[in-house]
Amino acid sequence: MEELIPKIGLEIHLELQTKTKLFCSCKNDPKETEPNRNICEICTGQPGVLPVLNKQAVIYAYSLAKALKMKVNYKSEFARKNYFYPDLPKNYQISQYEYPLGEQGIFYLVRENLEKKVRIRRIHLEEDTGRNLHFGNYSLVDFNRSGVPLIEIVTEPDLRSAEEVEIFAEEFVLLIRHLGISSADAEKGQIRFEANVSLAPGESLGTKVEIKNINKIKSLVEAVKYEIERQKELILKGEKIVQETRGYDENKKITFSQRWKEEAEDYRYFPEPDLPPLIIDEEIEKNALYVETPGEIKMRLKKEYGLDYKFSQILVLEKERVYFFEETLSELRKLLRDPELSLKLLINFFINDFIGFLEKYGLEIKRENITPHEFAHLLYLYSQNKISSKIVKEALELGIKGEMRVEDVIKEKEMISDAEVLDKIIEEVIKEFPQSVEDYMKGEEKALEFLIGQVMKKTKGRAEPNLTRQIILEKISHAN
Ligand code: ZN
Ligand code: MN
Repeated sequence: MEELIPKIGLEIHLELQTKTKLFCSCKNDPKETEPNRNICEICTGQPGVLPVLNKQAVIYAYSLAKALKMKVNYKSEFARKNYFYPDLPKNYQISQYEYPLGEQGIFYLVRENLEKKVRIRRIHLEEDTGRNLHFGNYSLVDFNRSGVPLIEIVTEPDLRSAEEVEIFAEEFVLLIRHLGISSADAEKGQIRFEANVSLAPGESLGTKVEIKNINKIKSLVEAVKYEIERQKELILKGEKIVQETRGYDENKKITFSQRWKEEAEDYRYFPEPDLPPLIIDEEIEKNALYVETPGEIKMRLKKEYGLDYKFSQILVLEKERVYFFEETLSELRKLLRDPELSLKLLINFFINDFIGFLEKYGLEIKRENITPHEFAHLLYLYSQNKISSKIVKEALELGIKGEMRVEDVIKEKEMISDAEVLDKIIEEVIKEFPQSVEDYMKGEEKALEFLIGQVMKKTKGRAEPNLTRQIILEKISHAN
């Protein structure tokens, strides 16, 4: 039998971090814990009310469509998706169906041993539902989430393993955070996953099974892994895969059949009569956010600077790290006029020290504390032997914490390599310790180290060691 290859597609629901809900002015506040605080006639589906579209949500969705290189439908349409469920007070969800906001996108997965293009079928805007809360023998509904803006993202079945699913989810969350349109915190339900999995030889698709309602990336990966194994076993036994919807049990780590939902899946979509077509106008284009995806950043950094993906993976964890790295490099190249050495120096100090200190103190990069120029200047002085690597690290640490300006650390710690200044200090030391001078003349090497030590003491360790040694030797031989 030919090898069975998994074909996996994802459907993602992403809650947007707008100030207000999608069709009313209620607060969109995921932190609100008291039920039914942020609700009104519109988001609880009272008769006779009219939805008004939130422009910010459209700007966010359009920004995502652009990041995913999608064909944007500049005129799209809202539709009613009809179904009955207690958390859906109108008995329909306002969504997009035939004309989504974006179609035919691409998303690059880039990791140490992976460069892969995943096709995105569509993204569209829709409203979230409320939440059913269950208490023993009764249930209550909380409508705080009802009407919160969502983007639904549907990929083509281009993923080939649970590992690729994990990478997709992680990289997608990074993109969302770079865009700043949502925290995409899976634990808080801000990003929710569904996966469709089929197995077949070559490029063909098998019978598709959908796994619904997964709230953690870890569970998504486990569910897909389990489903691949389950289907493989069935096929090898010669059994048929049933096209169905399955749930995932996080405790037992298995998927289970939920076929009842499959039969109910006739949503009787029709165009939403209460909303005009959604037009992407100049204002939306002007206010949109334009970013490179993490994968594109990594590919570019490799091409421009030869950075390997292991290194750039640490940079893309935060957008500001990428900006800061590139700006510091450009400043350093201006100072050093040696592009290769500049890159080498910055690589040496960026991850272990700069990011290391940020992570140690749980801080973000704050330009009011340290700027790319200051960082570059530090590395420049280091390259000119004006300061030691110990001072570079100290200045970075104090700068990052906002405790001291980099320049002040340097002023305090800069090595004294001015021969005239050193000359005076050494003169003093020689006068103070004539016995040591004599000892050295008698061949006691240790006496020279002692004298150097005394110069270090007077300069608080800032005397340039080689020059100090040289001047002491000169003076002693002259005295002779
Ligand atoms: Zn409302
Ligand atoms: Mn949906």
